[in-house]
Amino acid sequence: MSETGNSAEPGRAAGTKGSGSGKGALAGWFAIPLWQRVIAALILGAITGYVWGPGAESIKIVGDVFIDFIKMLIVPLIFFSVVSGVAAIGNLGRLGSVGWRAILMFVLTGQVAVILGLTLGTWLEPGVGVDTSMLEMGATPEPSPFDWREMVRSMIPVSPVGVMANVQVLPLIVFSLLVGIGILLAKREEESSEGTGKGGAAAIARAFDSGALIFQKITIIVMELTPFGVFALIAWVVGTLGLDAVAALAQLVALNYLGCLLLIVVMYSAILAFVARVQVMGFFRGMIDAIAVAYSTASSSATLPVTLRCTQRNLGVSKPTSSFVVSLGSTINMDGTAMYLGLVTLFGAQLFGVDLSWSDYFVIALLATVGSIGAAGIPGGGLVMMGAVFSAVGVPLETIAFVAGVDRIMDMMRTATNVTGDATITVATASMLGEIDKSELSSADDV
Ligand code: ASP
Repeated sequence: MSETGNSAEPGRAAGTKGSGSGKGALAGWFAIPLWQRVIAALILGAITGYVWGPGAESIKIVGDVFIDFIKMLIVPLIFFSVVSGVAAIGNLGRLGSVGWRAILMFVLTGQVAVILGLTLGTWLEPGVGVDTSMLEMGATPEPSPFDWREMVRSMIPVSPVGVMANVQVLPLIVFSLLVGIGILLAKREEESSEGTGKGGAAAIARAFDSGALIFQKITIIVMELTPFGVFALIAWVVGTLGLDAVAALAQLVALNYLGCLLLIVVMYSAILAFVARVQVMGFFRGMIDAIAVAYSTASSSATLPVTLRCTQRNLGVSKPTSSFVVSLGSTINMDGTAMYLGLVTLFGAQLFGVDLSWSDYFVIALLATVGSIGAAGIPGGGLVMMGAVFSAVGVPLETIAFVAGVDRIMDMMRTATNVTGDATITVATASMLGEIDKSELSSADDV
């Protein structure tokens, strides 16, 4: 899946149906990459809001519709992608020694990333100082006082349908994990009794794969609304709050870049030098293509073929190990996204004066990790997951509106980090198992 493909899809459909100048205008609209349209909307929206003042609230409805569509995606995206992710681990045997090492490193690096995001957000407080009292918020879930017994019980999906209807993210994830594990076990039983692997459970696993794909496509359609939503929301925010809001956003963007750079320069370099024991500079030379593609497409999935090529050809990782770890990583290992989800939740809490207890920090860390696992490797994949984290700790979903306009700039850096992380762990896993030809890596200029 390529980003060009993504953004061209609706355009192609419109282009074939339309006619005359309407067709030309539509085709012209879709010919501009989505992120450029979003940035233009951001700038025009900010100018409109500045000139129009509080009256800009009259177009807020457009932004509300955009946020409603994002909310619509939360439940099905989590359900289908978590179930299909667990079921994709599929063959427990193949997972074996490669799998547990890679997954352990995915989880550990994800934790470091979230803690870094929370630390940067707490320490540098990018959302403090903006008076948001004039913004009329939609209903925000009330965070209740912490009681660990309640918390444990609230994670149990007593009524799966109720959990979905009320968008309760944690129990939904527990339910999805259990469905995935159930599929795995049923598949194994069917395989041993029929020996074909073509039983009903395998078909259901495939249906969940398709479901996840379908909702990724729907996400792409919803993302086409971003320029309109961003225009309206930024006009409303700037019209009501003035330029303080813009300064706060600039700080958030800067912290997103700082966090991602720290992950790459400190954490990944340390793993490469001390765990994988390879030449750090050779690694980055060999990965430059993939990092550039990740940065420009903002999509781990679109970058996957390039990441595979770089790890195999330039870094000397064996084909089976790189195919398995890189593919798995491109879906579940998103450290840039995890760091950002922690950071942006604190940003939203600071912006709207939501008091967070220490248990909320725990919930954010947990959900940012799970959110980064569940996020699709497509532009804006992390944006959709924000809603899930925000709802769990009572941060207003309007924060999404606030940050959506600058999301693409941050997404590019998150994706470059995500892809670098996938390759780092692939090299480390391969190195532990002797599945890497390190001489390739030291002569990695041949890209
Ligand atoms: N675009 C990112 C990726 O593909 C996900 C995100 O939005 O953070 O890796």
